[in-house]
Amino acid sequence: MKPFRPFRTIQMKLIVMVLLLILIAVQLIGVYFISTMKSSLINSFTSNINAQAQLLTVLAGPAIVKQQTDSGGRSEDASTELSQLVSSLFSINGAETQVLDASGRVLTTSMQSHQSYVGRKNTSLLVSRALQGISDNSEEIIDEDNVRKKVIAKPVISGGKIVGAVYIVASMKEMYETIDRVNRIFVSGMLLALGLTAILGILLAGTITQPIKALTRQASAVAEGNFDERVPVFGNDELGQLSMAFNEMTDRLSEALSVNEEEKEKIASILANMSDGVLATDELGRVIVANRRARSMLGLEQIEGMTVSECLNIDKESIAETLQGKEFTLLIERPAKDDEESLLFRVTLTPIRRRDKGVVGAIAVLHDATEAEKLEQARREFVANVSHELRTPLTTIKSYAEALDDGALSDPPLAERFVGVIRSETERMIRLVTDLLHLSRFDSKQAPLRRQMVDVEEIMEDVVDRFSLQLRQKAITAGVQVESNLPQVWLDRDGIDQVLDNLVSNAIKYTLDGGRVNLSARLNEGGQLEIAVQDTGIGIPKKDIERIFERFYRVDKARSRGMGGTGLGLSIAREIIRAHGGTIQLESEVGIGTKVTVTLPATQEGSEHA
Ligand code: ADP
Repeated sequence: MKPFRPFRTIQMKLIVMVLLLILIAVQLIGVYFISTMKSSLINSFTSNINAQAQLLTVLAGPAIVKQQTDSGGRSEDASTELSQLVSSLFSINGAETQVLDASGRVLTTSMQSHQSYVGRKNTSLLVSRALQGISDNSEEIIDEDNVRKKVIAKPVISGGKIVGAVYIVASMKEMYETIDRVNRIFVSGMLLALGLTAILGILLAGTITQPIKALTRQASAVAEGNFDERVPVFGNDELGQLSMAFNEMTDRLSEALSVNEEEKEKIASILANMSDGVLATDELGRVIVANRRARSMLGLEQIEGMTVSECLNIDKESIAETLQGKEFTLLIERPAKDDEESLLFRVTLTPIRRRDKGVVGAIAVLHDATEAEKLEQARREFVANVSHELRTPLTTIKSYAEALDDGALSDPPLAERFVGVIRSETERMIRLVTDLLHLSRFDSKQAPLRRQMVDVEEIMEDVVDRFSLQLRQKAITAGVQVESNLPQVWLDRDGIDQVLDNLVSNAIKYTLDGGRVNLSARLNEGGQLEIAVQDTGIGIPKKDIERIFERFYRVDKARSRGMGGTGLGLSIAREIIRAHGGTIQLESEVGIGTKVTVTLPATQEGSEHA
């Protein structure tokens, strides 16, 4: 939590500023006002006493002269007159008025408590100055009771001679009390004004600091990524404009960020759904981004932080060169793991360039080339197989033709045998080419099925009929079992005939004399048509079963070729069954027999299976 420092807030600063200004202003006014008032009060006080003293000098003159010149009763009258004059006419509040003769003796005093002074000499400097004829004598004194007093002495002149003096001592206490009162009123007024100003200051400064606080809160919210709130706009002053500008800036920022966010999401979803693996690295070659595909291709869960060379198991050279700006394409193999087979990747390493910073990292795109490589391998094998298959009969034909040419023609029985061989080799080549054409049509999807309603029992009987001669020659018994009530099925009759021909011909070829071939058809549990061709032949070793449907794959090449086989029969059968949307399976045991099962969807008329 932030420490509370009240004088750091703008509100407090503003209040203190206003208070200081007011304090200075009021102080200046106060000093000027009070000093002016004080001097005018003192002036009027002084001139008042002066006027009274002046009047007294005039009035007291004849009485003094009378007292000094006369004796007896008249002098007493004069003395009484003087004391009446000072006590009744000039009894200024708290002031003592003395009338002195020319020698400075007190003739009378207005103060009852000072009656003992009468007859005594007033030795004050002012009195002696007055008796010397100086009329302006005044001073301020502070007496033993700490009271400020004004003292005035004036000469009394009668008949051009100084006959005495008037001496007045007036207390200034009341006047100073008045000044003090005014001072106090002034101070309390000032304190009241300051208090009210402070309260008003808090309220008014709030109108400035409130929007600033709101702006500060909003700025913190924006910094934390919250763009939902807006600063309230109070009025159209500078702060209002600042608030509006801030709100606009928040809108722009939020827009820019959401565009950014969208772009990021797009890139993330593109990366996540790419069929190729992608790794992005920093300038040191450490992975910073990896998509799901890259993880699964490399079989690594935690890729971030590893170097590309570690992930891909390649030397550091190529990465280093990519980070210097070169592009690379490499083929790498991921060895087979547990139950997964080995994979082959084509890795393209491309540097990431930034306009201002040069190469800042690299992108590695991993393309799974396993399938492509397999296809390429299969294509190579296929071409080699075809060439080999064609070369064998062609060589035979060539050598027999040469033998005929070399004189065998003149030996008719021999020539006839040779021509027979040439014919049978040619027929084998024709069969081979026909089979290849067939397969190529399936490959290019140019062999549309011509479906019709087919009676399965009928086609099975027909197959057995077609092979009756071969069956009889090898003394093989053939049986057909078709489940009763088997419905007619929507099939390509020629296609299924060819499948069954291939299967039955294989069964006969690879079954020793006296064996048995069984054909059966039924609807299985899934409601699909299941056709099986089973023999009691030589069987197929386990290791070959997996590859038996591959083109040109034969267990015993010489034997198959000797029997006129092309090695394409099962492949063609599989293509036809696949085109029908079915499956074909082969089970076999060496020396016991082989069973090929074809499962077809029991489609009814009109509904074409995908
Ligand atoms: P082929 O023309 O050589 O018969 P296929 O594709 O029909 O070619 O069969 C491939 C191979 O599978 C044959 O060469 C043979 O070795 C084996 N084969 C096929 N059917 C049987 C079977 N019923 N009994 C034993 N081996 C068979």
